Amino acid sequence: MPEPNLPKNFLRHLKPRLPEMLATLRKFVTTESPSLEKAAADRCCDIMAAAWRKRNARVERLAQKHRGDHLRVTWWPHKSRSSAQLLVLGHYDTVYSTGTLAKMPFRISADKAYGPGIFDMKAGIVQALFALEALQESKIALSKRLVFLWTSDEEIGSDSSRKLLEAEARRSDAVFVLEPSFGPRGLIKTARKGIGEAEIIVHGRASHAGLAPQEGMNAIHELALQIERMQKWNDLRRGVSVNVCKIEGGTRTNVIPERAKAIFDLRALRAADMRRIEQRLRALRPILSSARFEIHGGFSRPPLEHKISATLFARAKSLASQMGLALGECTVGGGSDGNLTAALGIPTLDGLGAVGDGAHSAHEHILTNTMPARAALLAALLATT
Ligand SMILES: [Zn+2]
Repeated sequence: MPEPNLPKNFLRHLKPRLPEMLATLRKFVTTESPSLEKAAADRCCDIMAAAWRKRNARVERLAQKHRGDHLRVTWWPHKSRSSAQLLVLGHYDTVYSTGTLAKMPFRISADKAYGPGIFDMKAGIVQALFALEALQESKIALSKRLVFLWTSDEEIGSDSSRKLLEAEARRSDAVFVLEPSFGPRGLIKTARKGIGEAEIIVHGRASHAGLAPQEGMNAIHELALQIERMQKWNDLRRGVSVNVCKIEGGTRTNVIPERAKAIFDLRALRAADMRRIEQRLRALRPILSSARFEIHGGFSRPPLEHKISATLFARAKSLASQMGLALGECTVGGGSDGNLTAALGIPTLDGLGAVGDGAHSAHEHILTNTMPARAALLAALLATT
């Protein structure tokens, strides 16, 4: 049984460490790490590797050809040789290209710290680093190996890290994702929609709109009918959304268009709904005679269903209450790597990272005073799961 005052003990250790947390955060944020710029991302990977090495953890750099290197940090508790493992997951890449710091410098003002990628999610990585420090100094006998995986391409779909993080998740009893929390109260993300994209390309037949309209097959008309049909798949109550987000087609006014294309954003809260939408997509047939079309795409991230995070959230809530904090939860429409680990059936808790606002925008910031408690909560979860 965990000691009843465990989170509070961690918090007592971590509160005076806030200046050091912010100094580390400054280093991470001022080393820009855009997903698409390998050389820059690798420099951030260097800085992070050095910070983790200082904690006497085993740090492995997993070299990537086109993306920043991934970082795997392993820490074995002193006594245990058990093969059980917990995974802490996050990404150090950001959506901001090199040079953004000039317009959006790292700064601290009135308990808020600003900078590119600070909320999504470098502050989360710093919290994890100090959670490990708190665990080490507490000398608590952990029963499981801790693996921290920091990847470099989450913001662009995790192509180079997906296999790695899925393999690591399969070896783990639980996955804690340091993505930003939601809102000023720092809600944990206990459900995330699955995300997909579908492309429909209609092939019609061009003809002179005035001289021979009967010989044409209007690709835009067919596409419009398909869009109308697919928009009816929306079921917001069930968390299903299907939205045409981009269309193109036609050449000029007197030509019946022979080609039209639409791209749809697909979201679903349940795996069953995701599969149903994919079946419906594959079953689509032309409405107008002699139209033809191609359909590409589907879901790239399955949903993180609430049932997969419920037990971990209950524990987190109870640990937080021991620090006098009321921890809330929420469902979000956006995906993360937590969707991938949850889809494997591994208990996953997401949104454990920083409290703040403005991810991917000029006012991206975190609330600095929340960092010690969030780090203490993670330490307590790692000690009791
Ligand atoms: Zn993120």
